[in-house]
Amino acid sequence: LARKLAEETGIDTIGVKIAELETYNSDLYIYCLKKLLKQLNPVHILIAHTSQGRDFAPGLALELRTAAISGVNDIRSEKNELIYSRPTFNNNKNMLLRPTAGLPQLITLLPGSFKANIAKTKKPGTVEIHEINFAPATYKKNRIRHRQSRQRSGENQALKKAKIIISAGRGIKKPENLESVFKFAQCFATAAVGASRPLVDMGWIGYQHQVGITGATVAPEIYIACGISGSSQHLAGMKNSDFVVAINKNPQAPIFRHADICINAEVIEFIEIFLTKIENTV
Ligand SMILES: Cc1cc2nc3c(=O)[nH]c(=O)nc-3n(C[C@H](O)[C@H](O)[C@H](O)COP(=O)(O)OP(=O)(O)OC[C@H]3O[C@@H](n4cnc5c(N)ncnc54)[C@H](O)[C@@H]3O)c2cc1C
Repeated sequence: LARKLAEETGIDTIGVKIAELETYNSDLYIYCLKKLLKQLNPVHILIAHTSQGRDFAPGLALELRTAAISGVNDIRSEKNELIYSRPTFNNNKNMLLRPTAGLPQLITLLPGSFKANIAKTKKPGTVEIHEINFAPATYKKNRIRHRQSRQRSGENQALKKAKIIISAGRGIKKPENLESVFKFAQCFATAAVGASRPLVDMGWIGYQHQVGITGATVAPEIYIACGISGSSQHLAGMKNSDFVVAINKNPQAPIFRHADICINAEVIEFIEIFLTKIENTV
């Protein structure tokens, strides 16, 4: 991975080899990163805001005696200072943060918020590999032990294979309306039904339908978001869709900024009209 990063970005890269870290362990991550970062003395530490990143970043910040700024979706510079933006109020507003904790600044970045900056240069960066071996005493002190790994059940192969995904969000209002969403999906030959997390959390639909940072990552030819606001966590799972259609009654809904076609309508009303038209044509 370190070599690939150096080749593709042209950036000098450090890889760390740790035998004990075949499986994720936040205690060991923090221990190794602290050791390495103390040597490197960085100004910024950027960590992905994934389940792992969110797990170890606060502990690492504490060890480095700095603050963790989490879930950042934009960074701007003002009067030689960096200002970090993170979504708040259910992703309807952005909060701007100016750190006062000094350096290093430790930031977790929301996946999908930044474009990869692939260098045009043909010259790869250098690669330095560090091997960290634990003294048995250090390893024993570690509070987390890996016992076994289990395959996550309910991975939705239908979602992964579908060329068209019709996803329902809280805007469908009640679970009974899922029937219309499923009927809508049946109008297309290779379609599957997805959902935003609240629908899964409320028990309206199974987890295997969830799209997003804690659900499936999909890249269909067409993604139709029905009553979905477009939170960064949802976008992270569907941002690679070729073509996005969004149906939302709020013209300011963030999903419209990511859609190729924006339909400003009551979602179930729109689907019912669509179904009637299809019935009348067939
Ligand atoms: C750690 C973490 C992980 C998460 N992981 C995920 C994830 O994997 N996937 C995910 O989806 N979310 C995830 N979330 C939740 C995420 O932050 C949002 O809360 C969620 O995506 C919002 O779902 P929604 O768009 O369905 O609901 P809302 O944000 O409530 O949006 C509903 C939308 O429907 C529209 N609407 C309302 N009524 C109608 C109507 N009658 N007709 C048309 N439109 C209407 C509204 O204008 C609004 O835009 C995660 C959150 C956290 C903190």
